[in-house]
Amino acid sequence: MLSSAHHADVVIVGAGVSGLAAAQHLIAQGVTVTVLESADDPGGRMATESADGFRLDRVGQLLNTSYTEPARTPGLEALTLRTFAPGVLVHGADGRQQRAGALTPARALASGSLDQARLSAALARLAAQPEERLLARPERTALAALTSRGLPPRTLNGVLRPLLAALLRDPDLTTSSRVADLALRGFARGRLAVPEGGAATLPALLAAALPPGTVRTGVRVRSVATNLVTTEQHGDFGCRSAVLATGARAAAGLLPGLRVPDFHEVTVLHHATPAALPWDGSLLLDADPKWPVAHTTVMSAVDPTRAPAGRSLVTTTVHGPPPPPRTVASRLARLYETSTRDWELLAVHHTPEAVPAMPPPYDMRRPVRVLAGLYVCGDHRDSNTVQGALHSARRAAAAVLRDFGIPVPAATEHPLRAAA
Ligand SMILES: Cc1cc2nc3c(=O)[nH]c(=O)nc-3n(C[C@H](O)[C@H](O)[C@H](O)COP(=O)(O)OP(=O)(O)OC[C@H]3O[C@@H](n4cnc5c(N)ncnc54)[C@H](O)[C@@H]3O)c2cc1C
Repeated sequence: MLSSAHHADVVIVGAGVSGLAAAQHLIAQGVTVTVLESADDPGGRMATESADGFRLDRVGQLLNTSYTEPARTPGLEALTLRTFAPGVLVHGADGRQQRAGALTPARALASGSLDQARLSAALARLAAQPEERLLARPERTALAALTSRGLPPRTLNGVLRPLLAALLRDPDLTTSSRVADLALRGFARGRLAVPEGGAATLPALLAAALPPGTVRTGVRVRSVATNLVTTEQHGDFGCRSAVLATGARAAAGLLPGLRVPDFHEVTVLHHATPAALPWDGSLLLDADPKWPVAHTTVMSAVDPTRAPAGRSLVTTTVHGPPPPPRTVASRLARLYETSTRDWELLAVHHTPEAVPAMPPPYDMRRPVRVLAGLYVCGDHRDSNTVQGALHSARRAAAAVLRDFGIPVPAATEHPLRAAA
């Protein structure tokens, strides 16, 4: 069944941030687009639930103010990023907490810590490197590269390992050392941040800025060809080009031959406290490998819109399957130095295939053009981040425009709001 109502220049499969961003770039150049999404809402992995006045991210992404793509994506002009306190707070295996990555080398030295000064100097050097230079370095696993750099164990195991694990969602640091260097460079150049109102705000802004009717939810795509997209229950959609913007596994299901990567597994737990918890908005990393917590924060101190007045929302990330709630509660009591007996566990979100793994050798610019009329984007074509998903979308849209004979506009940037 093919009707004119079911036709667009480009049909995009998947309304995660990459599909929505690709739609934005194409529509900005006068191309007609339909986005088909199997779920009831757009957003994909960037989902947020509401519960009793709390805003609970399903996956708790950490963004960075140094991400360049949000500012280059039409529709995100109203995005406000809520920043964490500078650097990170690290809870060491010895039970002591120290802030890392927040000071200039001179200030760190003045504070009397040689380790901190060395770390700040190393981060400052990375921040100053052009991306191409880091991408030309020899490539191995992040762990192999870190251990070969002669860092003192306090810096290596006490700061860099938990920091990189958090940035890469990879506790074993099997990720490419080039990707790891870029992640550290981004950390050193910007501030960790979350979208105000929850992760879902970002795709919601993208979807709201598209012409009405562009995104069709509850439509599962069954097969994709260059000029025809068939769905399970909503007929066929004719098009001049199709863009696959699903996650990696779904993309390989629709386009056999696409590589299915390994994935990292993540669990996010949300606790509500009965009274507001004093906290400065730091991201607290747990550097003690005996415990399952990777990092935790009082999310409502970073973004006050996420909890009702007088209460706090504590968001905790575990790299792996859900641990027993009692284990997490007892570790959080130690990390926050407070009793967690009255804390209420609001949600446990487990995502077995959270992000594609990026082992070496890793190509961060995987092709997005399969053939003229068929394209693929998403975090598995770039880095496994929101930045990577958005960047792959811009690359895929540019490839479509080129094949249509439409000039590809130079990337323009709008300012983004960052609120402390
Ligand atoms: C637990 C977790 C933690 C993360 N942490 C971070 C972080 O700290 N920093 C960071 O930058 N990023 C992080 N990410 C990664 C980030 O969320 C993703 O890179 C990004 O959201 C991917 O967007 P996407 O559009 O490529 O894919 P998705 O969001 O997966 O969107 C794909 C869409 O396609 C739809 N779809 C699939 N199959 C079909 C079909 N047959 N028909 C129609 N629709 C279909 C899906 O329903 C989905 O909506 C994290 C992700 C997870 C899960």
